Amino acid sequence: MSVLINFKICDNAKECGGVNVCPTGALSWDEENETIKIDNSKCICCGACERSCPIGAIKVAFSDEEYNKIAKEIEDDPRTVKDLFVDRYGAAPLSEFFMIDEDEIEDKLTEGLVLVELYNDDSIECLLKSIPVKEITKDLPSDTLFYKAESKEENLPVLLIYKNKELLGKIEGYYTVDQKEELLEKINDIVKE
Ligand code: SF4
Ligand code: SF4
Repeated sequence: MSVLINFKICDNAKECGGVNVCPTGALSWDEENETIKIDNSKCICCGACERSCPIGAIKVAFSDEEYNKIAKEIEDDPRTVKDLFVDRYGAAPLSEFFMIDEDEIEDKLTEGLVLVELYNDDSIECLLKSIPVKEITKDLPSDTLFYKAESKEENLPVLLIYKNKELLGKIEGYYTVDQKEELLEKINDIVKE
């Protein structure tokens, strides 16, 4: 009875949903080594962590056989951290080079929609609390661009929404997966204005 994490697709964040929901401390954040730590002697196989991970990186095994099977699947998983960005941040509507400097924002603006998430070191974990950008942009035109820019502003993250090079509006603070619909509504309201 154990839990496994596929670190090929997990961004190993302090804000990990699995760490937050684990009732026994089987999953915890190792501050010194800056990594999620697994202590399977404490795991009660409740499954809460598996349900909390938005990209399916956490798996719970109920037997040694299942553990070995999942471990092998993780070993054979061809995905890499680069694919994580595709999964998490959405490939099609987004520029591959979406990490930019704050002073590059003006240069990146186009006649279409451009979303820019401002972040800093304290807000970088699990973008908008793990809502994949491809979900955030799913109702927007397919040529919508998305960038992340490190910022010195306070109260981050902030999502800036530009159209035709004009700032239409901004959304401040974290949104959890449970608040996804609320976030999408806010984005759509700003875009429709
Ligand atoms: S929620 Fe999933 S992807 Fe995020 S840190 Fe935890 S295990 Fe990794
Ligand atoms: S299955 Fe339950 S006890 Fe085990 S690591 Fe996940 S949340 Fe913790």
